Amino acid sequence: MAWFSKAKARKRPTRREEIWNRCPKCKSHVFKEDWHNNLSVCPRCNYHGKLTAYERIGITLDSGTFREINEGITPSDPLSFVDGKGSYKAKVAATREKTGLNESVVTGTGKINGISVVVAVMDFRFLGGSLGSGTGEKILLASNHAYDRRMPYIIFSASGGARMHEGILSLMQMAKTCAGVARLEERRVPYISVLTDPTTGGVSASYAMVGDVNIAEPGALIGFAGRRVIENTIKQKLPDDFQTSEYLLEHGFIDAIVQRKDMKDTLAKILSFYNR
Ligand SMILES: [Zn+2]
Repeated sequence: MAWFSKAKARKRPTRREEIWNRCPKCKSHVFKEDWHNNLSVCPRCNYHGKLTAYERIGITLDSGTFREINEGITPSDPLSFVDGKGSYKAKVAATREKTGLNESVVTGTGKINGISVVVAVMDFRFLGGSLGSGTGEKILLASNHAYDRRMPYIIFSASGGARMHEGILSLMQMAKTCAGVARLEERRVPYISVLTDPTTGGVSASYAMVGDVNIAEPGALIGFAGRRVIENTIKQKLPDDFQTSEYLLEHGFIDAIVQRKDMKDTLAKILSFYNR
């Protein structure tokens, strides 16, 4: 009998995890349903949890208006890269299977409060939202789409930086994407960059920081190199809030911090200003 009761006891935590979500910041338990209804923001401490690309699209664009473009673009493996954990190819296959995504960004068109836009939304679940050549290609093609049709372009970033499995080709995406969004200015097409947690490395060092308007979600980690690397280099202790949205706003690197529940209306307000 003891064996059976033991098995039962082991099952319980799974059930608990099904109902509760533990906030990574304040550690309080929140009903999964409440967490979801609150747009994955902790009702106790306002921690902004990560969203998948499609969840983000769902809360940002008007219902039923999203049309995906270039969804067939997948990562390339120019170096036939293999590390201690296996091949890049196998990792990509497993990630595609797990997330149902082909790359770390989803691009398309839609409407925000009736205003037509082109969006690129990064998904951190896909290899840490890393910037691979497929990601760069999709971001560039979406900005070309915005250029051709004179539609505002919005990128939601969530990324650990360049995808080192693709070597120099990954780093080249920084220049390529920046060239794409810079061209929008010729046609007076606005480009809004929304930085979410985390936006670091090569993404923060390229398109994420060059929007006509740069907006961040509260408490997002935004920076280039990690805290320890910088501290070891400059031999100084950094402030506690270093590399957060709040710190960046105070020092003039971003234009605004917007709560997730207000993001859609804020974007619409900015776009209506450009439309005048
Ligand atoms: Zn919390």
